[in-house]
Amino acid sequence: MAVPKKRTTRSAQGQRRSHDALGAAVVTACASCGKATRPHRACTACGMYRGRKVLKV
Ligand SMILES: [Zn+2]
Repeated sequence: MAVPKKRTTRSAQGQRRSHDALGAAVVTACASCGKATRPHRACTACGMYRGRKVLKV
């Protein structure tokens, strides 16, 4: 297995991790009930996805 030759400094570690933060979740309104849902996922409130009932609620 490959072994690092030099210890990573706290500074280099921080610079690498500066892009690791997660953004806020994208929220859209459900087309059938209007509740806030995530895009490309079935609505958890009414169970509809693309005009079709796909979940039992
Ligand atoms: Zn809905």
